[in-house]
Amino acid sequence: MTVDTHCPYCSLQCGMTLAPAADGGAPDVLERTAFDVNRGALCGKGRTAPAVLDSAARLTHPLVRDDPAAPLRPATWPDALDRVAAGLARARDGHGADAVGVFGGGGLTNEKAYALGKFARVVLGTSQIDYNGRFCMSSAAAAGSRAFGLDRGLPFPLADIPRTGCVVLVGANPAETMPPALRYFTELRRSGGTLIVVDPRRTRTAEQADLHLAPRPGTDLALALGLLHLVIAEGRTDDAYIAARTTGWPAARAAAMAHWPELVERITGVPVPQLREAVALFCDPEAAMVLTARGPEQHAKGTDTVGAWIDLCLATGRPGRPYSGYGCLTGQGNGQGGREHGQKADQLPGYRLLTDPAARAHVAAVWGVDPGTLPGPGRSAYELLDALGAPGPDGVRALLLMGSNPVVSAPRAAHVEQRLRSLDFLAVADVVLSETAALADVVLPVAQWAEETGTLTNLEGRVLLRRRAVDPPPGVRGDLDVLRGLAERLAPARAPGFPVAAEEVFAELRRASAGGKADYSGITYARIEAEDGVFWPCPEGGEPVPRMFLDRFATPDGRARFAGVQHRPAAEETDAEYPVWLTTGRVLAQYQSGAQTRRVGELTAAAPGPYVQLHPELAARVGAAEGDPVAVVSRRGRAVAPARITAAIRADTVFMPFHWPGAGRVNTVTNPALDPVSRMPEFKVCAVRVEPAGE
Ligand code: SF4
Repeated sequence: MTVDTHCPYCSLQCGMTLAPAADGGAPDVLERTAFDVNRGALCGKGRTAPAVLDSAARLTHPLVRDDPAAPLRPATWPDALDRVAAGLARARDGHGADAVGVFGGGGLTNEKAYALGKFARVVLGTSQIDYNGRFCMSSAAAAGSRAFGLDRGLPFPLADIPRTGCVVLVGANPAETMPPALRYFTELRRSGGTLIVVDPRRTRTAEQADLHLAPRPGTDLALALGLLHLVIAEGRTDDAYIAARTTGWPAARAAAMAHWPELVERITGVPVPQLREAVALFCDPEAAMVLTARGPEQHAKGTDTVGAWIDLCLATGRPGRPYSGYGCLTGQGNGQGGREHGQKADQLPGYRLLTDPAARAHVAAVWGVDPGTLPGPGRSAYELLDALGAPGPDGVRALLLMGSNPVVSAPRAAHVEQRLRSLDFLAVADVVLSETAALADVVLPVAQWAEETGTLTNLEGRVLLRRRAVDPPPGVRGDLDVLRGLAERLAPARAPGFPVAAEEVFAELRRASAGGKADYSGITYARIEAEDGVFWPCPEGGEPVPRMFLDRFATPDGRARFAGVQHRPAAEETDAEYPVWLTTGRVLAQYQSGAQTRRVGELTAAAPGPYVQLHPELAARVGAAEGDPVAVVSRRGRAVAPARITAAIRADTVFMPFHWPGAGRVNTVTNPALDPVSRMPEFKVCAVRVEPAGE
């Protein structure tokens, strides 16, 4: 029997059909053309995803460590869960509830994210929960909330892209990160629209653009202000829209006027004629969009940078109009839903704030607890990782981690690894022995995508049902099972509040989200199946909302708010010792920390390891030939990988992908400087020197 389901990886959540394999192994992937987001197209990651189901690296029984120096050894589930409960309880009883941390992932289903947040706050009583989605798009979320009163990655369906007149794609490379989405941009250009790509590298996406702007890393904010300056100078603002639908224009106008074109050229390296061309392409058509991704977001000023791009959209009257506006291309599979339902340090289900008394009362009533017992907001992801094992009352002594691999994916990763090693107790639930799981005292082998049913919310805010297609291997349990087992041990009276059936969890999530910004109360599994996805908000008895803000924004006065922000330099500037910019990103054949994709032979053959992409001028300066090992050195550490020399990158910048551990782990080098609002680290820019590695 075939089963319609979705890919385990990125936020496009491509539909696919799985069919039993003739040889009884992992299922075959068939095209699912009826799902209109990808119409059957898959990238290599999705096509090969079943290989992870029966990978030789798959964990099929719990592993425990008898003492910190002992190797991991197989154990029974009851023994492993007893040890996790004891490890968490020891920290809680000895040092207080906030001595226990919980770290989730943007790949967890909505049900798991919801249950994990509830488990942290109701069973453990800790405020110390966050997730790796903080590294993914929190700056866009913060900027979107500030401007529009609500954050949904794309406030319109992807299908609107070919119907607009111009798309400015800022720091996004869908040709490598989500290739099936590229067709929307191809259709845009076929129908007469234009594509502008902003990226310091001439990526495969930039190659398809009508105009490629290649600013210095860390200067996207100045670029947006420079474009807005020209919009004002050329009289292209939509004054009626600004008056009717926005607030804060004078500050935004003043910020832009302080960024005249020649100054912006000096800051960004983008020539003035290109700035003028971009303004013409963006302003001439009736409809236009700006879409951002990690490029402008992963900065210590990411929220303001996205805010400046939103200001450009608002000044030209784009958001809340048909086929127009601002959107963010979310990265992780459930980056959107993951933060809507309670695993983010400051949020409760339904995109409610933990600091809002009414929100606390509503969710506490659903959970059957006194609102006063709910902890307040905790630390953000990097701050939580940085506090692991720290001595004193603020240290986190024990950690439960699900669906994340921060040893590879966190900034300043060698330090994070050392913090993880200094914990009194670490438990990791994963499908393979990731680099982080290898440090744990207890490893819990859990089911993965096609082995269990659950919902995810894609980059469009469309809630999807990922159906179970195969049985998990014997010895493996679901994450919801794990939370139930731990609740039974740590707070037996609360255990019935942790069902293991995903649909039961979703029913409670619907009630908890009712009336919130991300209202899922009108969404059911049956409705998702019938409609092939349901856009939130969708209140009980209401209709889904594919296009938001057409009448009003979700702010108290219904108006969008200009950010009115100023450019500032990166947290770390280049100097004589570290004269080159480093920027990081993904490649086509690997996904995030690579825990899954590095176990797939076809993907590993296509992308076997890290590399340092550098311009021929820089290569000549440092004496590197193609393939030579070169070291990229920052104030935090050193990563070594073969040189890949190309004119497709600025001569002052090197690029490294971040999917690998070991000597080529670029996150050893990256800067954990945080955005003051989103608390997102500055993955996208830091100062380095490049030198022959001689090894
Ligand atoms: Fe999976 Fe994303 Fe590739 Fe689609 S684009 S197949 S969702 S990894």
